[in-house]
Amino acid sequence: MRARNLHLWISVLFFGFCTSIAVSQESKAPAKKPGGAQTKESQAAITPARAIEKLKEGNQRFKSGASVARDLPAKVKQTSEGQYPFAAVLSCMDSRIPAEMVFDQSIGSFFSIRVAGNVVNVDNLGSLEYAVKVIGVKAVVDMGHTACGAVKGAIDDVKLGNLTELLAKIKPAVAAAGPGTSKDKAYVDKVGELNVRQAMKEIPAKSSVVKEALDSGAITLAGAMYDISTGVVTFLSN
Ligand SMILES: [Zn+2]
Repeated sequence: MRARNLHLWISVLFFGFCTSIAVSQESKAPAKKPGGAQTKESQAAITPARAIEKLKEGNQRFKSGASVARDLPAKVKQTSEGQYPFAAVLSCMDSRIPAEMVFDQSIGSFFSIRVAGNVVNVDNLGSLEYAVKVIGVKAVVDMGHTACGAVKGAIDDVKLGNLTELLAKIKPAVAAAGPGTSKDKAYVDKVGELNVRQAMKEIPAKSSVVKEALDSGAITLAGAMYDISTGVVTFLSN
């Protein structure tokens, strides 16, 4: 009887010990860390709404100085066999807005398409179509920013080589904003936001591939503005 009790106690202690190991391992382990290399499975598990949330969470980390420390050479290896990005971001070339940094993402996380004034053209539409239809991203984002030089250039009707044609793509946003000057910061940002809203209409209007994905719910399309003085990305409401 005594021996039986002893055996029982040993079993209880051993079970408790194993459970505590399991719990402590579970608590240390790994839900997938932010910034972990994207896989086919993790891409498939992301909904369009979650893709936008991931960008928002990343920007929150960026602006608060809590960006994830990453082993980039390891990421290069992890992504060498394929890419499974969850979004495509069309943003301005402005040197103050490296998209992967402001969204605290990494190699293989999302497509970054950059052009002055984050304007829509046939080449970046083709790139977005590849991202959506071939690679399977869950979100397309057009992101402008405050104090955009391209927007100021469009307001000032700057003429310079091929830039003239690029700035013409921002002119409808200038017209929609009404009269104003590039000296007026609030006006420049208003045109910048209207330029993003214009892109959000233009992308599905000019790409049946993107529109089809939007209509089926496979992707979401969002507009955003980055504030160069705070590091904050604000997603526009529809
Ligand atoms: Zn810009």
